[in-house]
Amino acid sequence: TPIPDYLAEVLAACAADASGAVADYIPELAQVEPEQLGVVLATVDGAVYEAGDCDAGFTIQSISKPFVYALALQQRGLDAVLDQVDVEPSGEAFNELSLEKGSGRPLNPMINAGAIVVHTMVGDAGDPQARCEQVLAGLSAFAGRPLGVDEAAYASESETAFRNYAIANMLRSRDSIVEDPEDVVAAYTRQCSVRVTTRDLALMAATLANGGVHPLSEERVVEEWVARQVMSVMATCGMYDSAGDWISTVGFPAKSGVSGGIIGALPGQLGIAAFSPRLDPHGSSVRGVEVCRRLSADMGLHMMDPP
Ligand code: GLN
Repeated sequence: TPIPDYLAEVLAACAADASGAVADYIPELAQVEPEQLGVVLATVDGAVYEAGDCDAGFTIQSISKPFVYALALQQRGLDAVLDQVDVEPSGEAFNELSLEKGSGRPLNPMINAGAIVVHTMVGDAGDPQARCEQVLAGLSAFAGRPLGVDEAAYASESETAFRNYAIANMLRSRDSIVEDPEDVVAAYTRQCSVRVTTRDLALMAATLANGGVHPLSEERVVEEWVARQVMSVMATCGMYDSAGDWISTVGFPAKSGVSGGIIGALPGQLGIAAFSPRLDPHGSSVRGVEVCRRLSADMGLHMMDPP
């Protein structure tokens, strides 16, 4: 079967599953059309295959975390970033108020605590506005086109970001962040409110898979060691408290977000993105996870399978 037909078949097989629920702790996310469903594959040589709602826009949410981690690594170096945020799986929900025993660092950059610290490590210290611009420019470079912020989603999440304020205050109390916690949450929330399509996400993932070079623009966005570090952390921590189940059954580095997006990055091969808004209890797209499971099984994408 030609790849686009195969992808359409995968979507058709997943479409019947209406289980899960759209995120409603962010009021704007509760309003989205829950039936949306799309999938895009982008190879490292720049071939893009798509099916379903692959041009529908939605907010990037936690899928921004690996890319902003990449920007911080590129700008500050590995040691400086590791000094602030560890790379150990937490086995906890994305919004857990937890720090590593002993070191006091957030456990990893994929949970909110780590991502909030990492956000403040991009750009020039003490200039939140410039930093937001740099984050947006960096995410745009990964996507290969200029992205923008969904202001309605940003305003909506800002009204209910109580848990992230608690996390930011916890981080401020031990000087993991040094700016005003409210300002930091606002900036992190803008990062999460960047609007993307499933196609954008597939190309962003493909840029990681391609060692940091965008497959179409051929721009080097980050160095190869950065892409390796990011995909490693996605493999161990990207799916939060289902990371172990994910890597053993699906078998590639991945990251999900509460708006219903999910990405996979297969080093040297391809970027995968799926989108469907209803979420499982871990905060990952029910159908997006199922699409990835099927792609992995059908196309033999598990990294631990012999070539
Ligand atoms: N902006 C969301 C939050 O911080 C992102 C969470 C997610 O996608 N898992 O709560």
